[in-house]
Amino acid sequence: MKRKWLVAVGCLALVVAPLVLPDFYTTLLIYTGLASIVVLGLVVLTGVGGMTSFGQATFVGLSAYTTGAISTTLGWSPWVTLPIAVLLTCLAAAVIGLLTVRLSGHYLVLGTVAWSVGLYYLFGNLPFLGGYNGISDIPPITFFGFSLAGSRPSYYLIWAVVAVAVVCTMNLLDSRTGRAIRSLRNPVLAESFGIDIYRLRLPVFIYAAFLAAISGWLYAHYFRFVNPAPFGFDGSIDYAFMLVLGGATQVFGAIVGAFVLVVGKMLLQIGLTHVLPGPVHWDQIFFGLLIIGLFHHARSGILSARRMGAASPDNHEADTEDTVWIPAEIPCRFSSSQANALAAQPSATLRVEKVSRRFGSLLAVNGVSFDAAPGQVVGVIGPNGAGKSTLFNLIAGTLSVDQGEVWLGEHCLSRLSPHQVIRHRVARTFQHVQLRPGQSVLSNVALGAHWLGRKGFIASLLRLDRHEERMLKARAMAAIERAGLKDVAFADAHTLPLGRQRVVEIARALSASPSVLLLDEPAAGLRHQEKRALGALIQQLREEGLTVLIVEHDMEFLMDLVDKIVVVNFGTKLCEGMPQTVQSDPQVIETYLGAE
Ligand code: ADP
Ligand code: MG
Repeated sequence: MKRKWLVAVGCLALVVAPLVLPDFYTTLLIYTGLASIVVLGLVVLTGVGGMTSFGQATFVGLSAYTTGAISTTLGWSPWVTLPIAVLLTCLAAAVIGLLTVRLSGHYLVLGTVAWSVGLYYLFGNLPFLGGYNGISDIPPITFFGFSLAGSRPSYYLIWAVVAVAVVCTMNLLDSRTGRAIRSLRNPVLAESFGIDIYRLRLPVFIYAAFLAAISGWLYAHYFRFVNPAPFGFDGSIDYAFMLVLGGATQVFGAIVGAFVLVVGKMLLQIGLTHVLPGPVHWDQIFFGLLIIGLFHHARSGILSARRMGAASPDNHEADTEDTVWIPAEIPCRFSSSQANALAAQPSATLRVEKVSRRFGSLLAVNGVSFDAAPGQVVGVIGPNGAGKSTLFNLIAGTLSVDQGEVWLGEHCLSRLSPHQVIRHRVARTFQHVQLRPGQSVLSNVALGAHWLGRKGFIASLLRLDRHEERMLKARAMAAIERAGLKDVAFADAHTLPLGRQRVVEIARALSASPSVLLLDEPAAGLRHQEKRALGALIQQLREEGLTVLIVEHDMEFLMDLVDKIVVVNFGTKLCEGMPQTVQSDPQVIETYLGAE
């Protein structure tokens, strides 16, 4: 509520500002608006998606130069050059993105620096772009014959664009695609629930470039002059600072960050040139110190979530009990015809055939074979380091097999990547809990249903995904209820005790409509009552014909639950059989049970 009021007051202030402020301040707000549009792209790309870019100014420049060059040489209207500039920039982003987004960490950062520096020199050295002097006399934007040359009309145009960009970005983040983008920071998790991370990274990259292109177009026709200076590396660094100042993951943080940097820098410049002598750029030194101070004391930015009254820093899905709609009956299949067909496949037997996996000199899994039929619960036991989790990773496609094969009915899973394995309805939990921080249980669980939906980037931006989104959320809510988490559905998943976080993982796997469920130590950290509830849930799933594979150390819990136990030690299968038989096997007693 507090947040809504702040936004309303902010909007009102922005509408009134140019009417009461001197021109100089209106110009500063225009700068702020232009930068906000670029930083909004960075919120999605870097803040939420985890891809750091130090090259956004280049995209602004590419678009500004394109529209500037065409409108001055050919005399075309800015409205005609707009799609050209935006398309060209997005095309360049697609090409650069294809080369860059597969990189990660500091390689990605250096990649963006490389092309930003390269293109800066290109702008400066192409004679037909005016070299370092740039292009002048760019025509202003006209609107039904009315020129938007002055600062007030430009101001309103630019801030109207900011408003549209804010709304679209918020739509994007509050959607199936948004959940997928938020999971990009955890590639193993994202892939396990059907997200092809490289395929998603590219449109995210292009979206950020698209916003930069819009900003570049507005820039060129407002200033009516372009030269390479603002589009170099310094410019990109400024955008990155604005992002961090505003809190990186927050949509409104983009505007606040841009405002603080633009206005702060200008005021410092004016203030300090009067006070301190010489050609030294005191303002830049001061600004650097201020930023270091900020990083020490408010790392999550000026708009830290607590102060804004938001649920959590990263929570862009603002569901509450009142807004989530739970239909009487949730169709298992909806929207995506391909997912429909896959979800309708009858359950089949999982066959693990002589799979092996090596890590360097360590043979973590060594020729393990076993079957698990629909309606069977199979326990996998063995001492720590025996290779149980690795075995699960091989089945789920998280790790590739060195030798052997995994089959589900007539489908071979062992050549597929994890985002394809889930399409065969094999869902999993992780031994080390993998939940997205700052997001509700519901949002985390809804990621499980990702592969059942189809609506993509553009539908999300324009909010054309509501029906499907409600279905996905409804599926997630149903899974949450089954797992006994209804009381915490809207809580931040990370605030739950670790045991319950594991149950959230089970709910997430269930919302994927699985036929095979891989549970890696699901009962660890659960209290007695919670264990019993989990046992009952697994029984129920078995009756519904699911295949459940479960790694667990609590033998008492397993014995009542499983149809069969597979014992592994040092990556090799020792034996398999009924719980009672296995329990009395001398080899098993010696290596595992005896030690307990
Ligand atoms: P378990 O789940 O049975 O406790 P794991 O499957 O996690 O055992 O690990 C089996 C062995 O493989 C351990 O010795 C572990 O250190 C090693 N291992 C697991 N994952 C990796 C990896 N990604 N890189 C190198 N070694 C690994
Ligand atoms: Mg393990």
